[in-house]
Amino acid sequence: MIYLDNAATTKPCAECAAAVNAAMKSAFGNASSLHGLGTASITTIARARKTLLAAVTGIKTPFDGSVIFTSGATESNNTAILGSMHRFRPRFGKIVSTAIEHPSVAKTLVRLEEDGFEVLRLCPKDYNDFTAALIDAVDENTAMVSAMAVNNETGFRIDVPRLYKEVKRKNPKTIVHIDAVQGFLKVPLDGDLISVSGHKIHSTKGIGALFIKKGEKILPLISGGGQQNDLRSGTEPVELIAGFEAAVLAYKGNAEHFSMLKARLLEKLAELDDIGINSDESCVPNIVNFSVRGVRSEIMLHSLEEAGIYVSSGSACSKGKKSEVLPAFGISDKDIDCAVRVSFCAENSPQDVDALCAKIGETIKRIRR
Ligand code: PLP
Repeated sequence: MIYLDNAATTKPCAECAAAVNAAMKSAFGNASSLHGLGTASITTIARARKTLLAAVTGIKTPFDGSVIFTSGATESNNTAILGSMHRFRPRFGKIVSTAIEHPSVAKTLVRLEEDGFEVLRLCPKDYNDFTAALIDAVDENTAMVSAMAVNNETGFRIDVPRLYKEVKRKNPKTIVHIDAVQGFLKVPLDGDLISVSGHKIHSTKGIGALFIKKGEKILPLISGGGQQNDLRSGTEPVELIAGFEAAVLAYKGNAEHFSMLKARLLEKLAELDDIGINSDESCVPNIVNFSVRGVRSEIMLHSLEEAGIYVSSGSACSKGKKSEVLPAFGISDKDIDCAVRVSFCAENSPQDVDALCAKIGETIKRIRR
């Protein structure tokens, strides 16, 4: 099997599996219990928090704030957006966002729009410097900026530390939320609220986190027993948290390796006829979107699958639906119909890329004949 769909999800690493297994044996107590098993769970969770806070910024300085564990980034995004905007009611205000957000942000913003917030959605195709465009859109009435660090379909990225610094300089009251699912451990991050997901970095599904800057106040989305400082009730999944921490510590992806794979992919694709590249040089190197003109995405995907090669036609959540995000990059409908997304992890090799391109070439010959 050649797995090239790591932006959809990743295979849990051995370290994660071992940590989950160990926690199931030694830290299965309820973290709210007063006995020793509860304490073991509290210790496991506290250690994981420390690891995540140190890792998220991507620089030596740890994140200045706290972190709560969630069921995944969908919950983190909903909590960040709905949980922080309450304070602007009943005066509402403006939310600056993008036309390329994941549905867990996009649909949540629609809910706020229905409530009375004004939502501005900027398209990357309209700007040379998209980070600057987001900053420019902020004014004294801006309640929130919500933007993804790295786009899941093309790898398009913004300069998050610059965005955060400049937005705060323009309006210190504006809350900056970053959906960092595809950027976590790959690009430098900052923000008042940062959402991440375990299953994109070789941890299990069902675990995510929301980073909350010191002084930032949010209302919980899930109420109950008051766990996690009353910000996210529900018995903490200690096993998944331990696995998440282990995956963070074991993460091996690095930009050099990804850049080498991307360069090879682009070189091999250039040898084939009529391929459009939808991810430019400014995109992160681990996600490459391209269109094999004349071969519809589903046909290409199934042909690749026959050879044991797994890629995606866009975002996994869109389940084969036409991408609503690619038009915001200026990609034509025709090219969207034949778009393929390849996303790498540390385990992928140049031979994987060669096998992929050989099979694409073969499929083109068969279909376009
Ligand atoms: N945000 C982005 C950019 C994503 O790529 C995804 C998942 O594909 C999510 C949010 C949702 O994450 P989760 O699957 O952890 O809910």
